[in-house]
Amino acid sequence: MIPGSLFIVAAPSGAGKTSLVRELLARDERVRLSISYTTRAARPGEVDGRDYHFVSKEKFIALLEAGEFLESAEVYGNYYGTSERWIREAMAAGDDILLEIDWQGAAQVRRLFAEAIGVFIMPPSLQALQQRLTGRGQDSTEIIARRMAAAREDISHVSEFDYVIINDDFAEAVADLCALFRTRRLQTSRQLARYASLFHQFNP
Ligand code: GDP
Ligand code: ADP
Ligand code: 5GP
Repeated sequence: MIPGSLFIVAAPSGAGKTSLVRELLARDERVRLSISYTTRAARPGEVDGRDYHFVSKEKFIALLEAGEFLESAEVYGNYYGTSERWIREAMAAGDDILLEIDWQGAAQVRRLFAEAIGVFIMPPSLQALQQRLTGRGQDSTEIIARRMAAAREDISHVSEFDYVIINDDFAEAVADLCALFRTRRLQTSRQLARYASLFHQFNP
C-alpha cells in the first residue's frame, strides 16, 4: 500500500488560502485537512475540533513534551502545533493530507518528510492583498499593517516551495490546486498500488 501524500499549503495572510482550501475539500473527498492545536482563544464562529483544537498553555506544553507534534511554533504570543499521530494514521490509510501552516512550520515538516509537496499561494498584487485584508473585515488597521509587513517575509521564502498558485481569478486558482492533487495521484507507483487487481488481470 502506497501511503497518501503530504501537501503543505502556505501563503501570506489574505492571499486566499483558507478560501481555496475550503473549496478543495468540498470537491475532493480524498483530501483531509490537518487540524492544528492552538493556545489562542477561539474567534467568534470558530468551532473546537473543526477550525482548531483549542487547548490551554499547560495542555499544549504537555503535548509538546510528550512528542505529539510534528512541528510547532509561537506566533503572536500563541502556540500552534500539528499532531504527528493524526497525520501518520491518515497517510497510512491512503488519504492525502493537507497542512495549512506558515513557512517556518513548512520548513520543519520538510526536514521530516522529504517527499512533502509545498504549495505557495500568491495574491495577484500588493494592492490586492491589502484590499483583501481590509475587505475581509476581520482585522484592525494595525493588524493589517503588521500582516502586510509579514507578507514580504513570507514571500521571500517562496523558492522553498515546489509549486506557486497565483490567486487572481478564484475559480482558476481552485482548478490549479485541484490539479496538483489529481496529478500526484496519477503517479505510476500509486496507480499500480491502487489498481493492483486490474494490472493482475493482464499479468497474473
Ligand atoms: P489567515 O492566514 O489570516 O487566514 O489566518 P489563519 O487563522 O487561517 O492562520 C494563520 C496562520 O497560521 C496561517 O499563516 C497558517 O498558515 C498558520 N497555520 C495554521 N495552522 C498551522 C499549523 O499547524 N502549523 C503552522 N506552522 N502554521 C499553521
Ligand atoms: P487567507 O486564509 O490566506 O488569509 P482568505 O481565504 O481569508 O485568505 O481570503 C482573504 C479575503 O480575500 C477573503 O475576504 C476572501 O473572500 C477574498 N478572496 C480570496 N480569493 C480571492 C480572489 N481570487 N479574488 C478576490 N477575493 C478573494
Ligand atoms: P491565527 O491565530 O490567525 O489562526 O494564526 C496565527 C498564526 O499562527 C499564523 O501566522 C499561522 O501561520 C500560525 N499557525 C497556525 N497554526 C499553526 C500551527 O499549527 N503551527 C505553526 N507553526 N503555526 C501555526
